[in-house]
Amino acid sequence: MTTNASMKSYAANESASRGRRFDEPRPAFRGEFQRDRDRIIHSTAFRRLVYKTQVFVNHEGDLYRTRLTHSLEVSQIGRSAAVALGLNEPLTEAICLAHDLGHTPFGHAGQDTLNECMRDHGGFEHNLQSLRVVDELEAKYADFPGLNLMFETREGILKHCSVRNARELGDVGERFLERKQPGLEAQIANLADAIAYNNHDVDDGFRAGLLSLDQLREQSLFAEQYDRVHAKYPSLEDRRLIYEIIRRMIGKVVTDLIEETGRQIEAAGVRSIDEVRDAGQPLVNMSPPVYEQHVALKRFLNKHLYSHEQKLDMTRRAQAIVRELFEAYSSDIGRMPPEFADRAASLDGAERARVIADYIAGMTDRYAIAAHEGLAG
Ligand code: MG
Repeated sequence: MTTNASMKSYAANESASRGRRFDEPRPAFRGEFQRDRDRIIHSTAFRRLVYKTQVFVNHEGDLYRTRLTHSLEVSQIGRSAAVALGLNEPLTEAICLAHDLGHTPFGHAGQDTLNECMRDHGGFEHNLQSLRVVDELEAKYADFPGLNLMFETREGILKHCSVRNARELGDVGERFLERKQPGLEAQIANLADAIAYNNHDVDDGFRAGLLSLDQLREQSLFAEQYDRVHAKYPSLEDRRLIYEIIRRMIGKVVTDLIEETGRQIEAAGVRSIDEVRDAGQPLVNMSPPVYEQHVALKRFLNKHLYSHEQKLDMTRRAQAIVRELFEAYSSDIGRMPPEFADRAASLDGAERARVIADYIAGMTDRYAIAAHEGLAG
């Protein structure tokens, strides 16, 4: 059903899929990967992304990205590239929409703190948590736990994974042990994430007053588009100038990605998704000069945006909230809602800690703030 005529032989194809963990009848009016996308959109974890932070905490302003709008932007970039390359669009869309489902509240500050809290209990990895959400934590269907997604969707969601965890994961963990690549749709989603991230951080960072035009012009990816836009529209106001530059930056990087990937696929001579997996390296790439610019911008944002003094305050607050919630639930599981408390009651050690981590990871920013305030009362 999803196999449109223009799909290439190396695209993921449902007829050659490794399938679902629990057998189900085929959907009548949509493809298997469309069904995956629909299940993701209907999941509870997906709806919560609207109140989860990307870089700016939700209440800092209504115009900033949240994980939901980020995921939609990733999906939009990923789908464009997938279609241009003759890949499986619904699968790409499903992976992009699900890629951040396992993120904690408060972005990376939340994730790093939860990882520290879980240090003696197997740690916390947000990619692995995204897989856990779709495999186990969503409780919506009568016949199976989780969303029972297709192998290729799950393979794409698990972007990174430690070797220790890979060993326990079975089928989707194998590629980390065998050093194989995921399908091209997963590779696209991975880079679409990085492209979306860079560009919306420029936008949000500028809006927040944490990045100036002069600073941004030191970045070649930004500067070359600035020069063009400024030459053509010398009196454009800053806000529109920034939008026009970002639009062109995305256009440039995505076009480069499509062209370079097309070249690499041809050079590798792959004919099937298994040959893509065995190719020895990812085939979805930007060209070296553009990748260089992309990475330089990412480094710049890391330095000037994420570690900005104004952000560090919120980071420290977020760390304290996550740590104190974890400590409070560890010493009294009864402080959690019954569905978590009951699960935790029959467990101990690492398994009990995992239930607490699941509960905290599922929180939105504002839910975590309220829960933390509730601890005092
Ligand atoms: Mg992301």
